Amino acid sequence: MARTFDAVIVGAGIVGASLAYHLAERGARVAVLEAAPAPATGATAKSAGGIRLQFSNPQNAALSAESLKLLKAFPETIGVDAGYRPRGYLFLHPASSWPAWSEAMRRLRALGYPVELLPLEKAREVVAFDSECLVGASFGPEDGVFDPPTVALAYLKAAREKGAELFTESPLLKAKKRVETWRIETPKETFEAPLWVNAAGAWSARVAERAGYRLPVEPYRRSVYLTAPAGARPGPLVVDAGSGVYFRPEGPRYLFGASHPDQPPGFFEGVDWEWFEEVALLMSQRFPWFSSLGLDLKSAWWGYYAETPDKNAVLGPVPGLSGAWVATGFSGHGAQHAPAVGRRLAGWMLEGQEGGLAAFSLSRFDKGARVFEAGIV
Ligand SMILES: Cc1cc2nc3c(=O)[nH]c(=O)nc-3n(C[C@H](O)[C@H](O)[C@H](O)COP(=O)(O)OP(=O)(O)OC[C@H]3O[C@@H](n4cnc5c(N)ncnc54)[C@H](O)[C@@H]3O)c2cc1C
Repeated sequence: MARTFDAVIVGAGIVGASLAYHLAERGARVAVLEAAPAPATGATAKSAGGIRLQFSNPQNAALSAESLKLLKAFPETIGVDAGYRPRGYLFLHPASSWPAWSEAMRRLRALGYPVELLPLEKAREVVAFDSECLVGASFGPEDGVFDPPTVALAYLKAAREKGAELFTESPLLKAKKRVETWRIETPKETFEAPLWVNAAGAWSARVAERAGYRLPVEPYRRSVYLTAPAGARPGPLVVDAGSGVYFRPEGPRYLFGASHPDQPPGFFEGVDWEWFEEVALLMSQRFPWFSSLGLDLKSAWWGYYAETPDKNAVLGPVPGLSGAWVATGFSGHGAQHAPAVGRRLAGWMLEGQEGGLAAFSLSRFDKGARVFEAGIV
């Protein structure tokens, strides 16, 4: 006998968890299917935990702003500290990217976002760097860090208190439309629901294939490296936009990384040590003090970005397959967008209000349209 629900969510990362909560809060009976033995073990557990309002695309900035509001209210609404700390984000830009970036940050300021443009001398008061090729900096004082796995688990707990059910070790094997409902098979049980959402992150193209549609989302390995304890104090996440390297304090250490521009797609396993050499070199060139720090190779980790062709999320209904929805493809900014995306997508699914998410629709790729974001890290 199939278990029937109003909505089935495939994937119990932060995106599926936020959506489960927001659907259950609106009274929907929700099942969350997770392939792994526990929730929040995919990219959600591998994130660097950054959240920033500094995006060049106003829709991305708005998703962060709404998420930030939801995370700040977490203790009252969900009963848990989301770990949000306003440490700031500092972007350092070379001449090639500065005109477009500074213009985008001016637009955000005009909309009331807390974003500042800093001359390099001022930026150097925040962190020491070699200014070769740099022309300007931007700083977001409310940008910072939070704790994505805690948020995902808290959303799931709150969703379950509202009647949602979580099924672990339950990978979607097949999804098939039967008149008005979808029939979703897992090795243990079969589920039926008029609505279901593919929130399987880096694995979402596989899930789509099992439901008979194509999703242009590919996994890309991304590694995060750590220094040995170095007496670091709380400070901002710093992005050297030209090279792509970023770092931030993590306790007394520094956490750092960069997206490998030539990384082929695929589920490559293990920390990327070849790329590590290059990242460490780029870090030392821009931040000369970094070369005197010891490294803690054992603490490094890796995870997978889920990337679309324009590196922005794909959200909304699957064209031609009524009742099938997607929420995936966030590259390196899905943890911070999950609270707002879950809330808005739940409204779209149940009340038909797209809530500004239509720009991220799957159909954009068939129409040759793209979402442009200059701030992909
Ligand atoms: C190294 C790294 C650093 C990052 N840093 C940041 C950051 O600073 N800020 C930020 O906002 N974002 C960051 N991200 C991105 C962020 O982690 C992701 O965008 C976000 O976690 C995506 O959440 P998700 O729920 O979509 O995916 P996931 O957390 O990956 O969840 C997807 C779930 O689907 C499950 N699944 C897979 N196949 C099936 C199936 N067949 N059936 C059922 N379940 C299935 C998986 O087991 C998994 O639990 C980073 C990512 C990485 C890898």
